[in-house]
Amino acid sequence: MSSTDLGDGNRSTDRKGRRSQASSFPIPEGDEGIVPPWSPVDFGGLFSYDVRVFRRDTVDILLAVAPGALSIHKGRYHRVGKNIVQKIIDAHYVSGDKKPGKEVAVRIDQTLTQDATGTMAYLQFEAMGVPRVKTEKSVSYVDHNTLQEGFENADDHLYLQTVAAKHGIFYSRAGNGICHQVHVERFGAPGKTMLGSDSHTPTGGGIGMMAIGAGGLDVAVAMAGGPFYMTYPKVVKVNLTGKLQPWVAAKDVILKLLEILTTKGNVGSIVEYGGDGVETLSVPERATITNMGAELGVTTSLFPSDKVTKAFLKAQGREEAWVKLKADPSAKYERVIDIDLSALEPMVAMPHSPDNVKKVKELAGKKVDQVLVGSCTNASYKDITTLGKILEGRTISPNVSFGVAAGSRQVLQMAAKESSIAKLVGAGARILESACGFCIGAGQAPPSGGVSVRTNNRNFEGRSGTKDAGIFLVSPETAAACALTGVMSDPRDVAAKLGIAYPEVKVPKKFHIDDSMVLAPAAEGNGVSVRRGPNIGKPPESAPLPESIRGAVTLRVGDKITTDHIMPAGARLKYRSNIAKYAEFVFEGVDPTFSRRSLENKAKGVHNVIVGGLSYGQGSSREHAAICPSYLGVRAVITKSFERIHSANLINFGIVPFLFANEGDYDKIAQGDQVEIPGVREAIRKGSRLKARNVTKGFDFEITHSLTARQVDIILAGGRLAYTKEKGSF
Ligand code: SF4
Repeated sequence: MSSTDLGDGNRSTDRKGRRSQASSFPIPEGDEGIVPPWSPVDFGGLFSYDVRVFRRDTVDILLAVAPGALSIHKGRYHRVGKNIVQKIIDAHYVSGDKKPGKEVAVRIDQTLTQDATGTMAYLQFEAMGVPRVKTEKSVSYVDHNTLQEGFENADDHLYLQTVAAKHGIFYSRAGNGICHQVHVERFGAPGKTMLGSDSHTPTGGGIGMMAIGAGGLDVAVAMAGGPFYMTYPKVVKVNLTGKLQPWVAAKDVILKLLEILTTKGNVGSIVEYGGDGVETLSVPERATITNMGAELGVTTSLFPSDKVTKAFLKAQGREEAWVKLKADPSAKYERVIDIDLSALEPMVAMPHSPDNVKKVKELAGKKVDQVLVGSCTNASYKDITTLGKILEGRTISPNVSFGVAAGSRQVLQMAAKESSIAKLVGAGARILESACGFCIGAGQAPPSGGVSVRTNNRNFEGRSGTKDAGIFLVSPETAAACALTGVMSDPRDVAAKLGIAYPEVKVPKKFHIDDSMVLAPAAEGNGVSVRRGPNIGKPPESAPLPESIRGAVTLRVGDKITTDHIMPAGARLKYRSNIAKYAEFVFEGVDPTFSRRSLENKAKGVHNVIVGGLSYGQGSSREHAAICPSYLGVRAVITKSFERIHSANLINFGIVPFLFANEGDYDKIAQGDQVEIPGVREAIRKGSRLKARNVTKGFDFEITHSLTARQVDIILAGGRLAYTKEKGSF
């Protein structure tokens, strides 16, 4: 059959099979029904057919069910190809408008939590009264707060272990590794959706998952069976060609992309990788790239699932989890960015932003005080083995403190068995726990004014624990070169000088598999009692939005305020399950009086308002950056722009994220000014533009919001938990 008879163009059939004469299908006279024979149609991921088998009237029905699935060009029906993101969303679609910028709800297959955000997520899950998780797989990891100074972290671990056992959640014990690394190794599966209470959840995109970072409350809702509401994304394709040259690594790919796209302006997009270069990258390399997609501010990033993915899953003993996943040849993208892997060079992100990118060569010779290899970005088997091979039989510079943390117990066990650890110790490395550690500022703070070269993903000011230190983000290859020389060095130059051959490390045929540090949940949760130490509090209760906001600008901050600025981690993180205590440290590094002043205002019935600049709330998904301000009586944040996860967290905890309608008004407002948003409840219901007044300076200014109707209801109720209780649904 060379072409398909799609039937009579004057008739159409509705969903019940009734035929009518009037067709709404706009087919040019005489040309209808000619379909290219290679056009299989994937309607919403629900079923697949070849359009050749359809009559024209059937096509009408299919177009009604899946509008946009076919297009007509030069009188022929053409399937409108889908990118990978569209395919995954279609297969998990629950409700909403599948247009970029609109809200859609998707079903979540897997969830992931880490301990810093997990305790609150599980407290919220418990508050929902759902006995067992409704996801296909939920995993609770302990990787952030593994230093146990005082009882708090140990108590949290016990709470997490018992609450997981009770409610059907797998529990990855402290020592088993960093959530994202372990999840890709042991649980991730192509084509699945995953929600994680950590901003680097998109690491799972390396294995072809649509893995999204969110606040703990959103993850709790997903575990309880509720959908995840997301902005239907604009999809940006990064077309990879060529092959990485020796001494150039996956980290250099994502640093290049950060140089191109920067950390700003990418909210609401998803990056999808494609092109011939994809097959030259292993899954762990892909995961390095998708991991740092979080720094772009995109919703997530993902790779196709191909024979490389299959080989990785086979080596992990999980071949059955593999499905093929690739974009259709005619898939459409918002934008296409070409990167020739062969042309890349070693790159470095300079302080204090991951998009402050230069070539390593440009910084050559800069004195280095510390080199750290680890984190969920660059601590895979390949990374640690490559490092061991480069440093074998050599000694690091006496001026450098050098630490290495394997990303998972699997990596550590293999590195121990294959002597990479011995090589690294021989070279002078300090072997650190397989956990987040230095990346979250838990240990290894650099010296005052020091230069620290690291393989992790963030270099925000102060995150390392030393405010005036500079953190430089590089690949493990560049880190090794810097450790050897004590100065910033292009690894190609060091290799040439010292005669080091590039170690080609391949993904092993079989990884060391030992899941004994992952505890399966109890078959019956009823018999499990949850251990709650004195540091385990309750989710805070928030009050409904008042009729009017009448308050003070308690704090005015500039651009790029991160969740680390708002809610410090490091030594303070141990209070995460005790909101009243943790709230004492909100904005500690920016203005240590903020918490006290906010509580004083709250006691007087004055609403606290925060004013900020661009990209407010970037960085970690830490929902405490919304929970604790909410506890302190913050009712609104007015900025020039928000980062996605933080904005969602503010809404979940009843704080209205407003934008300046005219960014220039930001300059006219000072800290301490009295402000009013009269009739705010009514106004946010009615429209997206509101009037606010600076009472102190006597002028009005306009603010806007982009809340959906559902989000307006959440804000009015005082947050998502209150909304869920009020509505009896998610
Ligand atoms: S970014 Fe750092 S702190 Fe966050 S999960 Fe990765 S290793 Fe842990």
